[in-house]
Amino acid sequence: MRITAIRSCVLLATGLSAASAQSRAKVNQYGNPEKLAPSQTAAAITEQDLQTRLYQFADDSMLGRQVGRLGNFKGTNYIASELKRLGVVPAGDNESYFQTLPYHFHQFTNHSRLTVNGNPLTWETDWIAIPGPRAPRPIVNVPIVYGGVEGDTAHQIGALRAAGNFVVLAAAPPERAGRGRGASAPAAGRGGGRGGFGAAPSRFADAVAVATVDLDALNEGARATLAAPAVATLSTAGGRGGGRGRGNAATPAPDSLTQLRQQLAQLAPQATLRLTREAAQKLFGGRRVETLTPGTAGGTVTAALDFVDLPSDWARNVVGIIPGSDPKLRHEYVAIGAHNDHIGVTTPVDHDSLKAFNNARNAMLIANNMVALTPEQLATIKVNMDSVRREHPRARRDSVNNGADDDGSGSMALLEIAEAVKNMKVKPKRSVLFVWHTGEEAGLQGSRYFTDNPTVPMDSIVAQVNIDMIGRGRAEDLPGGGPDYLGVVGSFFDSKDLGEEVAAVNKKQQNPLSLDYKYDTTLTWSGYNNIYGRSDHYNYALHGVPIAFFFTGLHGDYHQRTDEPEFIDYPHYARIANYIRDLVVDVANGPRPRMNGTNPAKPPKVVP
Ligand SMILES: [Zn+2]
Repeated sequence: MRITAIRSCVLLATGLSAASAQSRAKVNQYGNPEKLAPSQTAAAITEQDLQTRLYQFADDSMLGRQVGRLGNFKGTNYIASELKRLGVVPAGDNESYFQTLPYHFHQFTNHSRLTVNGNPLTWETDWIAIPGPRAPRPIVNVPIVYGGVEGDTAHQIGALRAAGNFVVLAAAPPERAGRGRGASAPAAGRGGGRGGFGAAPSRFADAVAVATVDLDALNEGARATLAAPAVATLSTAGGRGGGRGRGNAATPAPDSLTQLRQQLAQLAPQATLRLTREAAQKLFGGRRVETLTPGTAGGTVTAALDFVDLPSDWARNVVGIIPGSDPKLRHEYVAIGAHNDHIGVTTPVDHDSLKAFNNARNAMLIANNMVALTPEQLATIKVNMDSVRREHPRARRDSVNNGADDDGSGSMALLEIAEAVKNMKVKPKRSVLFVWHTGEEAGLQGSRYFTDNPTVPMDSIVAQVNIDMIGRGRAEDLPGGGPDYLGVVGSFFDSKDLGEEVAAVNKKQQNPLSLDYKYDTTLTWSGYNNIYGRSDHYNYALHGVPIAFFFTGLHGDYHQRTDEPEFIDYPHYARIANYIRDLVVDVANGPRPRMNGTNPAKPPKVVP
């Protein structure tokens, strides 16, 4: 007995000291600390609970949760262990919480060899190869030709001159760098994952390989990242064809020859390489690339690219169910989703100067009426390092894209909603299906896989509520932002009933939110293209499930290392999570939302 008394005093003392340490912890302008020790959560959806969960889920130790990598594996373990603790029913593969995607990583190892006129070049020092979905075409005694400057299509060699050759391109000048490579996903950073895939076949489609002379710009760390396992393929049985987006049906089928070429290109893609200037000189008998005219011939090249395929079972959707209380309706589901992945790690930079830069960039974008900033405008942003150092005397190197808002906020709101619904005395009539999708940043892969391989019948899902980024939405983040702000997307597209329910449940809130429907129409704001097609609800809609997507807008830390838990607006975030809980319960108890069918509905002009 005495022991326990002493132990509880000690616990009390440490608890008190931890709490007082916490209360003494330095907080930022939003009242949030840099770090936060985890604490027990309660049944209600509270700011504290959202905070304690998000600081864990978006911590540096989660390594930016890139799909199929260790960080994503750790993040999904956290979610599953919480579901287990809460007693939510597992609904993944084999009565587990996980639905594992057939994921493969591809990599070129340092056993790869490249010789020019028989003379070897050194891996990573002189050259590197970028892994693609498949092993590339063989490169044996291939003639080298200088193709021109990357992106400068006016002066580059033509398709005929490139066919069958090893094409070398000079790097695009800095002001044009990065254009022309994967143009289909401008705003998304490395992960991509946002709308619009499959660029048109380029003039170099029939080249054996394309090598760009821009490796000098990358330090050793960045070169190693390039060589790291990347571009994982997802072999989906019976998946849908390529096209995405409502408008894609109109794309004309290419002629049979182009189709054949595209199939060949898919089967044996050309190799993509990057070279240093010095290495490139060796390909052209010592002449510097800058002195060459497009079409200039070099020597011959032979390469043995050691392509490895690494299966990973770390790409997992997390799936759980809270069964409904009605004997009949419990076989129908209200699905609620978020994505558990983000874009991983990138090269380290000084966190605080990057934060200052991102704040200034976003303020300039808002002042520029959301019209994309030119390189000249961006160049005028000067970060005052003295004030940064005054605030943060110690430089904090940062390479982790924490994804606190994207989509840590959605993922943790789902856990809080699960905890709240699980603690309801009377459960909703229909069952609630929780899905944390992986691979969203890599092209909505997790939701595509789930909707192609659902663990409950798709037609028993009466609606899907998707959450992606509900942790910000301040006035400094986007025009119209503020403590009541909430973007709602697609809620009327397939079911007027659902759209009206979204608005009605909000009206019933003690403190209704200000719902913004502008993303239902085309928006010209920079970075806001095709919001409807850029998150997981889209795959449910493609399967005929009415959806409502919630999002508080982009901001300066979007897809940046600075998307940290300490910059989240927790009071706002908690209000939204409580509202969405109410909406899910309302749909689970109400009449099944009817599909619009042939008479599409439009959202009401101003709400409330
Ligand atoms: Zn996201």
